[in-house]
Amino acid sequence: MTQILDGKAIAERLRGQLATRVAALSFKPGLVVVRVGEDPASGVYVRNKDRAATQAGFASRTRHLPEETTEAQLLEEIAALNADPEVDGILVQLPLPKHIRAEKAIAAVDPAKDVDGFHPINAGKLASGLPGLVPCTPRGAMHLLAEAKAKLPGARAVVVGRSQIVGRPMAQLLLAADCTVTIAHSRTADLAGECRRADILIAAVGRPELIRGDWVREGAIVIDVGINRMPDGKLKGDVAYAEALPRAAAITPVPGGVGPMTIACLLENTLEAAIARRG
Ligand code: NAD
Repeated sequence: MTQILDGKAIAERLRGQLATRVAALSFKPGLVVVRVGEDPASGVYVRNKDRAATQAGFASRTRHLPEETTEAQLLEEIAALNADPEVDGILVQLPLPKHIRAEKAIAAVDPAKDVDGFHPINAGKLASGLPGLVPCTPRGAMHLLAEAKAKLPGARAVVVGRSQIVGRPMAQLLLAADCTVTIAHSRTADLAGECRRADILIAAVGRPELIRGDWVREGAIVIDVGINRMPDGKLKGDVAYAEALPRAAAITPVPGGVGPMTIACLLENTLEAAIARRG
């Protein structure tokens, strides 16, 4: 019987545990989301983050700057948040307007407050096996693997996708957990063959149902990070779910799999950053 990894329920449990830990502190960990301009999808994400953070007892606020904010003004805003002792976590919501270089904004965040885990210092720490803040989505995927009771040491893990925010950090976390890791991407010669070897298959591509059921090894654990909006408005993952379901030992649905874990892990990062800064 395939285990369906219910990210919604698992994330809710994690948020509850975090709320209990926050309630025991003498302060409220502070999270600030910086949003520039009017990207409509960002509006929904930012509201969801704010609601989840507030419900779990964090001091959460959104700094919404106008579209015409210059890069220099954004960097000044970030510097002020870096210097604010009440702020433990800073998240710069992407995408930024085209006239602002995202890498400049990311690099301006104090690495100790970089709860997205995108700062090159934190990426470097992860690649070097040092403790640091880890990107939220891969962190959430690791929680789901724990829920599936995946035996990671020695397992063959295949990560499809090599982005800075999902694929690469995901591969680093699996390597740190002693998996034998392959990173596949758009130039991989035999994607189906690589996937078929996987005990643990992570899809982070952004192509609906790219990964077919017969690419999934019998008994594999499948984590589908992909979120693809279809013309009918429905969401689909990167894995052909109905085909993969009977073959997998455990699988995440889309929606309701990895997605809800990301915000819970943002709160987990913020709590850890707060405890590390304030002792
Ligand atoms: P990205 O576009 O930055 O990277 C996609 C990666 O897929 C690239 O490394 C590319 O080499 C690879 N790729 C593209 N086409 C391919 C192909 N045909 N075969 C093999 N590899 C191919 O995307 P991203 O930011 O890493 O996001 C990936 C997916 O995950 C998207 O659907 C995104 O919406 C979703 N996502 C979900 C969450 C979440 O919270 N659940 C968070 C971030 C991203």
